[in-house]
Amino acid sequence: MKRFDSHRRVYVLATLLTMSAPGVAQEFAGRDKLRAHSAEFRKEVIKVTDGVYVAVGFSLGNAILIQGDGGTIIVDTTSTVADARDVKAEFAKISTAPVRAIIYTHFHPDHTGGASVFAGDDRPEVYSHQLLVERAPDIGGAGRDGGNQFGSSLPDAVYINAGIGPGIGRRVTAAPAATAGSAVAPQQGFVRPTRTFNNDRMSVTIAGVRLELLHTPGETSDAISVWLPDKNVLMPGDNFYRAFPNLYAIRGVRLRPVDQWIASLDQMIALKPEHMVPSHTRPISGAAGTAAALTAYRDGIQSVLDQTLAGMRKGQRPDELVQRVKLPPALAENPYLQEFYGTVAWSVRAIYTDYVGWFDGNAANLFPLAAQDRAAKIVALAGGVERVAASARTAITEGQFQWAAELADYNLAVDGANVPAKRLKAQALTELGERQISANARNYYLTTAQFLLRGLPPQ
Ligand SMILES: [Zn+2]
Repeated sequence: MKRFDSHRRVYVLATLLTMSAPGVAQEFAGRDKLRAHSAEFRKEVIKVTDGVYVAVGFSLGNAILIQGDGGTIIVDTTSTVADARDVKAEFAKISTAPVRAIIYTHFHPDHTGGASVFAGDDRPEVYSHQLLVERAPDIGGAGRDGGNQFGSSLPDAVYINAGIGPGIGRRVTAAPAATAGSAVAPQQGFVRPTRTFNNDRMSVTIAGVRLELLHTPGETSDAISVWLPDKNVLMPGDNFYRAFPNLYAIRGVRLRPVDQWIASLDQMIALKPEHMVPSHTRPISGAAGTAAALTAYRDGIQSVLDQTLAGMRKGQRPDELVQRVKLPPALAENPYLQEFYGTVAWSVRAIYTDYVGWFDGNAANLFPLAAQDRAAKIVALAGGVERVAASARTAITEGQFQWAAELADYNLAVDGANVPAKRLKAQALTELGERQISANARNYYLTTAQFLLRGLPPQ
């Protein structure tokens, strides 16, 4: 332990020295951008146009209020009963007319978890696509190595945001063990849909307001967009928000239907909306602005898909594709495609897996060694566990945090209870997390580090 402690002192000293070095601002540029991105979720009820309001920043997802004759319509309901109560109190300052309808843009809990609050005693119809009711269970999110893309269990001091909203599950003040690894808070406020449709669209008039519910699969297969033809307002659900789209979620999901997402964006562009009110991040007004944003979003997804497929046809494997596939410069700088949430690299890997499966074409990977066997051989080759740990410590001081994490993993594969290896891996993951622009990546790194250190004796 003495060696480790002395190393820590060296590390702290090195950190202090580099804090004043010119490269540091660049090194943490992603984190600083992510911090600044929190302004996108400042708590506010925004009037989009006459009769359309959106509550941003009260919850991970927005809730949208549409006023009709003698009644209102709510599109998406926030994550929880508590969040929904906060929004309902704000909406009551605008209208206390009864809620005639609730519309779910898709099944995710950050859109359906507060419905019972808005429904109250009004007995509104609840609309969704039929696929919301029939969908396959969502397996992802349950205890993947202690990581959590939403950072629900992180202390406030290190938590920044969830990339597309302030957060989810962070009102839960129970011990971290109760929330770590779970994707979302329980859906205590979910109300089962009463009116579903199975076609491409459903036209309804509610409280005198004409609405078109459009099946626009993208982030989910059941995704719908809400179009108000008389006001030229589009509510795209989660098929658009101010961050690179999460074509694959690291909490563990199937690839989102990328080609359908592109087609859905084309459909939205054709509507020429004057206002767009996404279910995460702030609304956009002005036909030119909505067209530009939707087009950039469509082009960004298309570019990543096309480049990945072109590389695959040349035989490139996932690790190589990740190095090569980049957004073209104009799109890479577009404010709606910054990697605060999804990332290009994860999208590339997920597209690869969706098109050709897990096998990368290398025959040596048909029946690879068990991770434990490979680790034992590598550790022996390196001269033992202590040598591997020393290399990991050196890697950290040299800023090679990914390599440090991989080295610590060899020692953990040999012995899952190796405390110094857990500490080294946690340290490497923390350094990696602090350099991320993606909230999902940051939160996953930092919650995994927290999970590794849990229960260890203080140093
Ligand atoms: Zn959402």
